[in-house]
Amino acid sequence: MHLGAGRLTHLSTASPLKPIDACMTSMIKVGIAGVPLALKGKSTGEGIVYLSNIGLDALEVEFVRRVSMKEETALEVGEVARKAKIDLSVHAPYMINLASEDPKIIADSINRIRLSVDRGHALGARIVVFHAAYYAKKYTKEETFELVKDACAGLLDYKRDRRITQTLLGVELLGRQSQFGTVEELQRLQRELPGIRPVIDFAHLHARCNGCLHTVEDYARVLQTLISNRNHVHIHFSGIEFSKGNERRHLPVDLNQFKLLADALKQNACDATIICESPLLEQDAAKMKLFFK
Ligand SMILES: [Zn+2]
Repeated sequence: MHLGAGRLTHLSTASPLKPIDACMTSMIKVGIAGVPLALKGKSTGEGIVYLSNIGLDALEVEFVRRVSMKEETALEVGEVARKAKIDLSVHAPYMINLASEDPKIIADSINRIRLSVDRGHALGARIVVFHAAYYAKKYTKEETFELVKDACAGLLDYKRDRRITQTLLGVELLGRQSQFGTVEELQRLQRELPGIRPVIDFAHLHARCNGCLHTVEDYARVLQTLISNRNHVHIHFSGIEFSKGNERRHLPVDLNQFKLLADALKQNACDATIICESPLLEQDAAKMKLFFK
């Protein structure tokens, strides 16, 4: 089955953003997820300095299995990032399911996100990104949405109680049919809980819709659907291998494909951070950065 182009034309862009005439491309930041390939095995702080030296702007700190960074370290790393002018974000651990049939799994998931928020705050991170949920047999899509929304509302309360305002909460667009996180779900979640930001992973979207991103307009439509009030937008990008609407693995960046996003961004959303998740990390990110110079 190939759904092909035009799949995104149904997206409702009730209040499209006005095209921006002169985009300050300096507000479009490009960085990578995790430690640079060139510094394998080294610390996050060393990675930050390296990225700054090669002209990149951002790093997403990856808590893959658990939040292993101590608060003291996070404060130090945050200081290094501020001096090096590298924007930080945090990716929460992957084992998260806010719509599980098992209440303990939901509680553990919320704790992992809370801890990620605490570390993100200590780091001075702009956003904590997480994979929200899987659809369970027991629940309809609507019930799944309500479970995710309830958990997100609780997380916003947690942030508010701790007066954490700088570090936002971001729900990622996900690349498998079994996962919560379509464009429509993220749009609705943001509308109903304005404190929750969508994190647009274009590789995941491309996989999920069986390769529907072909033109600048395709990218622009997604940006117009998901960015409200000219908010800063956090983006993940890479090439992607997929089949039957499911991601298989991340691939190096196809620069022709990236140019479509770069053009759409310049016309629609100048305030953006793009995190490169390709296997070539900083090598691809450096090429992506050239589109905004
Ligand atoms: Zn992710």
